[in-house]
Amino acid sequence: MARVTKPTKTQDIQKKRVYTRKRVCRFCQDSNITIDYKNPKLLKYFITERGKIMPRRMTGTCANHQRKLKEAINMARHIALLPFTTLSR
Ligand SMILES: [Zn+2]
Repeated sequence: MARVTKPTKTQDIQKKRVYTRKRVCRFCQDSNITIDYKNPKLLKYFITERGKIMPRRMTGTCANHQRKLKEAINMARHIALLPFTTLSR
């Protein structure tokens, strides 16, 4: 009697699909979001926990908006809204 194989593999594939996001530029998609250096809550999403700016290939931001984002993050760092770096352990 042939046993029914457990559908673990297909479930794994489905899980992976859930986690891989569609890489669409957030700012192009939603025109209500404006890149503002006075809004660290938004900018924090685009920096790592070490304070580095996330690369475009991770966030999916388009080149035009990534450039504006970089400038906003640099300005926010200058007025101490965002960290340049965090202390190492
Ligand atoms: Zn964009």
